[in-house]
Amino acid sequence: MKSSDSPERGQSVAALILCAGSGTRTGLSYNKILHYVGKKTVLETVLDSFTLSYADSIYVVINPKDEDAVKPIISQYRSVKTVYGGDTRTQSVRNGLAATEPCDIVVIHDGARPFVTPALINQTIKSAMEYGSGVAVVPMTDTVKILRGETLGESIDRDSVCRIQTPQAFSYPLLCAAYERVEGNYTDDSEVYALAGNTVRIVRGDESNRKITTPTDLFCTAPQRTKIGIGFDVHKLVRARKLVLGGVTVPHEKGLLGHSDADVLTHAIMDALLSAAGLPDIGVLFPDNDPTTESIDSMVLLDKVVAMIAENGFKVGSVSAVVMAQRPKLSPHIPAMRDALASHLNIKREMINVSATTTETLGIIGEEKGIAASAQCTLLY
Ligand code: MG
Repeated sequence: MKSSDSPERGQSVAALILCAGSGTRTGLSYNKILHYVGKKTVLETVLDSFTLSYADSIYVVINPKDEDAVKPIISQYRSVKTVYGGDTRTQSVRNGLAATEPCDIVVIHDGARPFVTPALINQTIKSAMEYGSGVAVVPMTDTVKILRGETLGESIDRDSVCRIQTPQAFSYPLLCAAYERVEGNYTDDSEVYALAGNTVRIVRGDESNRKITTPTDLFCTAPQRTKIGIGFDVHKLVRARKLVLGGVTVPHEKGLLGHSDADVLTHAIMDALLSAAGLPDIGVLFPDNDPTTESIDSMVLLDKVVAMIAENGFKVGSVSAVVMAQRPKLSPHIPAMRDALASHLNIKREMINVSATTTETLGIIGEEKGIAASAQCTLLY
């Protein structure tokens, strides 16, 4: 599949993989190129396809803050180099083009499209070798209409429009010249190429070559790569103890009794995480006769659990928990709990939620003898 099979041997091809975006819309606290798709990251999945394509050299355009995380991935591949991106996609492409050794063809790809195939990359390259450009497009399958404010205008013949993907391959000198001419920001290289007076040639893209943008995309990319866990805990309420829930000290005349700080919410969350990862529960990992964990801050234990699940190949996706307490009123403290837990779980605040309920004065919770918590989580792998 490498260049020996290429019908147009002799033309040099460089690939630019754009990975400098922040990816804030995915809800991840890290760059989505570092997200796992199966046993590999998005970036490795992309690089696997490009190393099987006609590309002779590959440049990964990165955000400098991702360098430490990206370096070990890149080092697995020969002829892959990194280039620092800019503040905009357009500047990142310019930096990539400037770093590229002069070549005949440059193929540009969004690092967030992990399912690109070597065949599609090669089709765009072959088109660029023959026509100067080759841009992956997919047909519009939905009905398309013009928007008139909050109402619909006329229909557009959907056969006359298409959706643009990457990879996009171009004559390297023509694309460099096009980028020298334009000002402003562009989200699409074919637009820059066309603005310079060039004709853009299309190649039939692939519906599965989707771009990871939203949390839904992450879920769709990994339908068999999510594990669900459940945890439950209850502690006795006594006088002369602090009440700690989700790492937050809640003012109350009683607190929870336990070997550690008895943070029942964090305990339930830890057990949910461990359960999803197939690991022993906190009673086994942190037994209550261990003097080293006496009065320990449960967030320290949570850090250990998060490290343990990472060692087992999992990342926290989301956490949902409920605290059952008759008193005190917990809703004013929930934002602080979410912030504290999110920072220890290395996820965004919107990926964790905590709710609170009473038991309508019924049972041990209602009689204020104890507080219980239940948690569910998803782990990604
Ligand atoms: Mg406990």
